[in-house]
Amino acid sequence: TRTNDDLTYPHAEKKTIADHLRKYEALFTLSPQRMRMIVHAFEETLDKGLQKDGEIVPMIPTFVFGYPSGKETGEYLAVDLGGTNLRVCLVTLHGEGRFEVTQTKYRLTEEQKQDEGQKLFDFCAECLGSFITDNLGRTEKDEELPLGFTFSYPCSQERIEHGELIRWTKGFGAPNVEGHDVGAMFEKSLKKFNVRCKMTALINDTTGTLIASNYVDPNTKIACIFGTGCNAAYMEQAGNIPKMDELGLAPEQDMAINCEWGAFDSFDHQHLPRTKFDIIIDESSNKPGEQSFEKMIAGLYLGEVFRLVLTELIESGHMFLGQNTYKLEKAYAVDTAFLSLMESDPTDELLTVIGVFSYFFGLETTLEERVFFRDLAKLIGRRAARLSACGIAAIVSKKGYLEEGCAVGADGSLYNKYPGFADRIHEALVDIFGEKGKNIVTHHAEDGSGVGSAIIAAMTKSRKDAGHH
Ligand code: BGC
Ligand code: MG
Repeated sequence: TRTNDDLTYPHAEKKTIADHLRKYEALFTLSPQRMRMIVHAFEETLDKGLQKDGEIVPMIPTFVFGYPSGKETGEYLAVDLGGTNLRVCLVTLHGEGRFEVTQTKYRLTEEQKQDEGQKLFDFCAECLGSFITDNLGRTEKDEELPLGFTFSYPCSQERIEHGELIRWTKGFGAPNVEGHDVGAMFEKSLKKFNVRCKMTALINDTTGTLIASNYVDPNTKIACIFGTGCNAAYMEQAGNIPKMDELGLAPEQDMAINCEWGAFDSFDHQHLPRTKFDIIIDESSNKPGEQSFEKMIAGLYLGEVFRLVLTELIESGHMFLGQNTYKLEKAYAVDTAFLSLMESDPTDELLTVIGVFSYFFGLETTLEERVFFRDLAKLIGRRAARLSACGIAAIVSKKGYLEEGCAVGADGSLYNKYPGFADRIHEALVDIFGEKGKNIVTHHAEDGSGVGSAIIAAMTKSRKDAGHH
């Protein structure tokens, strides 16, 4: 039987917003049992990544040999090419875990991410060049400073200043970089613009974060980035890295591993409970099939998950009837920062949510809808944090860090700005491990791409001075 209400929503099955929320709750919630299954598969994948024939998760040896001594000192340049910004820094290490940083930041444009690859490195070199001469006032007479280049994409390395880009992530698509040595490409640009510096190390942001955090807190054993992309690094012994056997390192030699865990469950999709929204994001991305784990967690995608749910409700006639929704129907129109804003709205009326919807999308909302949006943001943010915890738990369990506990240095916009992200990770670690999960504590990391790359440049320099490769 039809009621009058059905006439207001002629195409929709009569459902309340609470019904919808229950449905999405079921879709986006990870039970402790499900998380333990993911952790188990994750740990196996990490193991396989260290084997000779490799695996879906690259587990890249970084040629960063062990933790810093804390005594590293000197002046270093750092270039950080991230998913959103380019940053150039001068880092002064004072030793004893103390340092100073002077930096300039540039926003990368969408065109730069897709334009010819060498041009991207030219841009980095030009920015660095003007930083050295204009900001630091250094001239020909000054000595060339060592440079650490943080390039936050998966690169397989044969030495520390070398790295072949395996694949672009985070929506980058610049042609003629995949399969090439980005260290050499950057050096070519440095020459072209006569930039006075000596490129010493090519590093991943997670490796830098591991080293920088350990420099100030030696209890740090794992580093994670939860930002535009997501990934982790940790320290492994050469004896546990079969794919490095031919290097003949002593089995107890430490080597930092850049996991590139964003690739977990790519292509086969056997372990992660992807929703239809995750599948749409994947299939409409420039890299279908790839970075499955990252696409459910990272800041680049969470806003889009939220938007796709709303699109479904618009299409089924359950929301914004009679309003023009074209602005909201544009892919990636919802930034993950909106989710942070909605979740932290302190007002009963959810005034921030009113603002976001009217200002950015020209849409009016009812209080009931706004509460739904906030609850939906919570589901999506919480799922991301719980999946992140699965990755951390896999490394903890692989390395046997649970009993004695360890610190996890974490950085990135999601970790630093999304309300409750860290608490949700900690809660999930207890769901996975029980009370002992409390032994694993994440904290805001030191600046890995700046300070970390400087420390690595320092470590590399003293290794070379001591006659190692
Ligand atoms: C990249 C990693 C990086 C992470 C965080 C991922 O997309 O593949 O290399 O560490 O983003 O920036
Ligand atoms: Mg970054």
